[in-house]
Amino acid sequence: MSVLGVDLRASKKKPSSIAILDQQSHLSQLGSFLEDDDLVKLVNEVQPNIVAIGAPLNLPSGFCCLDQSCECHFSVPNRKGRLFELELAKMGISCFYTNKGSIIRDLIYRGILLSNILQESGHKVIEVYPHATKMLLFGDKVPPKNSASSVRYMIGHLTPLVSGMDEHADDLDRNTCDAIINAYTGQLHAQSNTDILGDPEEGILVLPKLPN
Ligand SMILES: [Zn+2]
Repeated sequence: MSVLGVDLRASKKKPSSIAILDQQSHLSQLGSFLEDDDLVKLVNEVQPNIVAIGAPLNLPSGFCCLDQSCECHFSVPNRKGRLFELELAKMGISCFYTNKGSIIRDLIYRGILLSNILQESGHKVIEVYPHATKMLLFGDKVPPKNSASSVRYMIGHLTPLVSGMDEHADDLDRNTCDAIINAYTGQLHAQSNTDILGDPEEGILVLPKLPN
């Protein structure tokens, strides 16, 4: 059993990070890719049980695209994003809404494309959201991803959960740490220690089990 976590970037010019956790939650591989084909090739080689991608992997119900000039629109009136994004907001977890004004449109399109390619090759793909996982596992004092203390904070909080971090000490940055947290969320899912938000018809988010 292994889980491959992806911290996906919108641009193919900047490396997207990947992390692979084995059954014992050992970090067996940390790496990166530029081209979509390179990720597909890696996933086909590794054959992980789950690929956990930290990016939007579908559009809101009713949308065929995010193009302002297209007539497609929310099938539910007065929506501003996917159902689970509204659910996250109610939980006090901020996120980018997936809608036609999205500033992460390129990332959304890339996530959807990769998810489709991987699923067509028979792989199980889940959408995860590293910020939500961190808040649920570590509390709401998680420093922002781009702050100076973020990497040290993440290493400190991941080390008790994931073994083998020290072997990759030189490669741990905010992006690889997010790939690890995404893989860890996938592993929790494989162990049935997760909850899901959203509408299965539209798209769901996998996150650590919510406190009762
Ligand atoms: Zn459209």
